[in-house]
Amino acid sequence: LDTSSRYRPSHAGRHVIVTGGGAGIGRAIALGFASRGANVSVIDWSATSAQEVCDAIRLMERGNAFALACDVSDYAAVERGVREAEAYFGASVDTVINNAGISPKHEGLPSSICDMAPEEWNHVVGINLTGAFNTIRAVGEGMRRGRCGYIVNMSSVAGKTYSPVVACHYAATKSAIIGFTKHLAAELGPHGIRVNAIAPGRIETPMVLAVNSVINDEQVRLTPLGRLGKPAEVADLALYLTSDESTFITGQTIDVAGGLYMT
Ligand code: NAD
Repeated sequence: LDTSSRYRPSHAGRHVIVTGGGAGIGRAIALGFASRGANVSVIDWSATSAQEVCDAIRLMERGNAFALACDVSDYAAVERGVREAEAYFGASVDTVINNAGISPKHEGLPSSICDMAPEEWNHVVGINLTGAFNTIRAVGEGMRRGRCGYIVNMSSVAGKTYSPVVACHYAATKSAIIGFTKHLAAELGPHGIRVNAIAPGRIETPMVLAVNSVINDEQVRLTPLGRLGKPAEVADLALYLTSDESTFITGQTIDVAGGLYMT
């Protein structure tokens, strides 16, 4: 039995963009790709965070990273950043992890639609949903030409079912990511591009740790595995979905949630 092609370290030499790669889940994903030999472009609107992750990667054996300070909701900035990253590595992007996302109202209960400013709605949609469009729009043609590509979008269990700890804009964007992922999987599959999404449950990141601990304790109580998840546990799925161990998986949104809000 020849297993050599199936189990080769398929991330070596790849060029991956990780948005929101400066902290939390994105940081763990960036480090995970780097440890498997990928060239990693870390996009974050915090230049300091992107640079810190880049520096950590460069300390790894054969670690290659490029830091990009950029707001994913700004298409022109994303397109410019992608071209800079491609020039830096001398290789077009073959893997995109659309992870950047925000969930406003960190303290107390999320805001009601009746109190939500239209600007706040647009802000969240611009980052959580349009941000994913922007990066894929900027790299899609290159992937199609190369007849190879891997895209992972970050949804949430709050996009699959009602969650009392998020607001409607967040839930709407995370549901939209699921439909967007299915559509792109169908559209781009014939061009050799796989598109999947991840639905994390409650993961121990700066976003979640900024929340009142009573809310997190209640979420842990509702989680059958009885704890918060770790960013690296989400990174493991991103690595799997972009590897040669998942070659027939596309259009899926998979929970990493310890069983929280199972659907
Ligand atoms: P986090 O806030 O800890 O980190 C997010 C990173 O993204 C930060 O470095 C931030 O600077 C960056 N970022 C935010 N907006 C950006 C923008 N417009 N442009 C560029 N960078 C931007 O968040 P996290 O908990 O690691 O979440 C990562 C993703 O996972 C998000 O999409 C989030 O909605 C999703 N998610 C998280 C959880 C959880 O429990 N942590 C659960 C479900 C889904």
